[in-house]
Amino acid sequence: MFLPQEIIRRKREALPLSNEDIQQFVQGITQNTVSEGQIAALAMAIYFQGLSMPERISFTKAMRDSGDVLTWDKEKLGGPIIDKHSTGGVGDVVSLMLGPMLAACGGYVPMISGRGLGHTGGTLDKLDSISGYNTSASEETLRKVVESCGVAIVGQTGELAPADKRVYAIRDVTATVESIDMITASILGKKLAEGLDALVMDVKVGSGAFMPTYEASEALAKSIVSVANGAGVKTTALLTDMNQCLASSAGNAVEVREAVRYLTGEYRNPRLHEVTMAQASDLLVSGGLAKDLTEARDKLQICLDDGKAAEIFGQMVAGLGGPADFVERYDHYLPKADIIRPVFADTAGYLSTMDTRGMGMAVVQMGGGRKTPTDSIDYAVGLTDIPRLGQQVGQETPLALIHARSEEAWQQAADMVRNAVTISDTAPEQTPEIYQRITAADCIE
Ligand code: URA
Repeated sequence: MFLPQEIIRRKREALPLSNEDIQQFVQGITQNTVSEGQIAALAMAIYFQGLSMPERISFTKAMRDSGDVLTWDKEKLGGPIIDKHSTGGVGDVVSLMLGPMLAACGGYVPMISGRGLGHTGGTLDKLDSISGYNTSASEETLRKVVESCGVAIVGQTGELAPADKRVYAIRDVTATVESIDMITASILGKKLAEGLDALVMDVKVGSGAFMPTYEASEALAKSIVSVANGAGVKTTALLTDMNQCLASSAGNAVEVREAVRYLTGEYRNPRLHEVTMAQASDLLVSGGLAKDLTEARDKLQICLDDGKAAEIFGQMVAGLGGPADFVERYDHYLPKADIIRPVFADTAGYLSTMDTRGMGMAVVQMGGGRKTPTDSIDYAVGLTDIPRLGQQVGQETPLALIHARSEEAWQQAADMVRNAVTISDTAPEQTPEIYQRITAADCIE
């Protein structure tokens, strides 16, 4: 007989849970036969006692199977189903370029993305700045667009990992979010419901990262790589830098603009390029579309140079209801803020450090993100022309161009941007874009 309190007791006493225990508990979560108090108690027991690797894999699979799991006709498609997930950042617009680039190289990318959280931006919010683009497309539309152009980026279709939704809401109010074991099952439960062959996980490190320390980011990356591979999805992880904004812009419409300009070759921020290429090449290799990372990079560069990736981005936008000539006329379609004016540092010198979270909060403060989950978003506001650490700023080069709705909002954002950076007389040491690459082989204990 299934008794939730017995499962909670076993975990409390650090006794192992069987696959069946976990499956029954998660089914109880989905069917509402396990109470909120019982979920909270198990979450706290897991927080203290942890989950072994087999338990983590069982928990992840049970979360995945709690709702719809997409299946694909691989023979008909003729290519692997691949995707990425990022723990979230500021100016992290990688998904918008990576999806079309992978599709141009023969992959199929059913990317189910989320909205912005706290200081970090969300892919869906960015795409919602394209008038007509339907981020709430049905599963049928998702399939149609993935089959026809190789990539579709949308929000949840149907019921994806509903057990996670209930558990996460309870973790959020019971101080149990910060459990690497539960974060792993939560992220992967949703991602693996896409029916993937391969996944790359981008775990951010630094002042704008979700995880508080390098060690915690590394532990999460290893946990995700082990569990996802254990659940049958070829997965690697990259620890990437979030000690500065990744792109040159942060916001919604402004990041879409940067993504299009990246794809067409008009402007490519070198750090953004490196992180995008690294994630995309890992996926081409894991998905069997390239024999090694060098070949993968070459293929990706070709699809950028010959315009195929840009073309596919345009097809995806049109397929999901956006303008057919978006890539050619993005400036015509994207909303613009009333005030667009530079903010300068008080002193000239080298941009030395950046509180990336603070930069993200400047965007949120202007309305570009949500302070509460029901807030609406102002797609036009944000920051552009953000310099990279080590660049010189002063009278000529601003800390950013602020795109604001009002004079007051501009002023507040300007104060926040100035407070988020330090300027020095000497150039700071350069930090890498990628600290570490983690494969399944790195996770064998
Ligand atoms: N993001 C998720 O989806 N789940 C977590 O538990 C934490 C971050």
